[in-house]
Amino acid sequence: MASFQDIATIAIHGGRSLDSHASSLIFPLYQTGTFVHDAVGVDKGFSYSRVSNPTVDALERAIGALEGTGPAVCFRTGLAAESTLFFSVLKAGDHAILSKVLYGGTIRIFREILEAFGVKASFVDTSDPANVEAAITPETRLVFIESPANPILTLTDIAAVSEITKRHGLLLAVDNTFLTPALQRPLELGADISVLSTTKYIDGHNATVGGSLATNDGTLAERFRLIRKTLGSIQAPFEAWLTLQGLRTLPVRLRAHCENAQIIAEWLEAHPAVEKVYYPGLKSFPQHGLALRQQRAAGGMLSFELNATAEIAIQVINSVQLCSRAESLGGVETLITHPASTTHADLAHDLRAHLGIPEGLIRLSVGLESPTDIIADLEQAFAAAGSCNLAKEASSEVR
Ligand code: PLP
Repeated sequence: MASFQDIATIAIHGGRSLDSHASSLIFPLYQTGTFVHDAVGVDKGFSYSRVSNPTVDALERAIGALEGTGPAVCFRTGLAAESTLFFSVLKAGDHAILSKVLYGGTIRIFREILEAFGVKASFVDTSDPANVEAAITPETRLVFIESPANPILTLTDIAAVSEITKRHGLLLAVDNTFLTPALQRPLELGADISVLSTTKYIDGHNATVGGSLATNDGTLAERFRLIRKTLGSIQAPFEAWLTLQGLRTLPVRLRAHCENAQIIAEWLEAHPAVEKVYYPGLKSFPQHGLALRQQRAAGGMLSFELNATAEIAIQVINSVQLCSRAESLGGVETLITHPASTTHADLAHDLRAHLGIPEGLIRLSVGLESPTDIIADLEQAFAAAGSCNLAKEASSEVR
């Protein structure tokens, strides 16, 4: 197929091929565990769905087209992608450097598994690339950053960190789940591996969980496939098929997610009950300039703190009627989360404080509903939060 430049076209046509049986427009679901061999040692390229499957292959070509690489490697979850990456490139005695503000599940892989296998990790503030260079030891093999990082949207200058990793012969992996290659291209910025939880924007409909790794390094991609086969972490055919459907509307969905998030972030920033808004699209965001340079748009995720206690923040979350109280992100529905008790609950209170994750932080995955309706829901939730009148509390503090 000809290579298309525009991401909207790539999302629909990139990496796509018709199936060989009936030329069905939608690639078929090969819901099978195994494949029949024509003779011993003679097959049609597939043997067993823990190794590969035509529907999973189709998703891998489609994600690879978005990433600008050969076929990506797809996994059962985002964390299966990450753990396969870590098992592929790290061994006992090795050291990895990770962003200190990071999805809690990534930290747990190191704390609960890899450290017991003798892999060391340093969690550093990668928003200053000098900290990455300072943390490098002779044992360092991998730098893993998340930008924007869950949940306070801290950015890392990917090109600046890649200049350091290249100079030291290290691998750089970027978790690009919050933006996807439609809004940020880690490999073009110098990263070696792009990591996605496809559960989020790639699927976009909260129908599946999944993950992917993309790289331009063919040897590394083969290593990911070998370790995936060994761990048994491959994506399932039905999930791959559903994800393929969602993927086609990724750019158009993201455009609307970004527009809605900008409107809501500006509304929150002007609201007297709100103490602080974390959104890279706001001029007040400390890394707004880096966002403009490195990202095509600010994304659909934002977090905010109220001028009130963590208990009131929880009451606000408990009072929403349109937004859904749910973990995850990137789907068409607006989801509201309390990171301290969900995505980052495994981290000790002190560690959360050290990372700058406030106990009362509220995270919003801005969906595709009308922003007017989302704002009305938040407004009524602010008013309904317990017996306390937030706006009144806030204005007395302003005085
Ligand atoms: N990376 C980020 C930034 C995430 O937010 C998540 C999950 O929330 C993951 C990775 C893990 O993905 P999954 O839940 O698909 O395992």
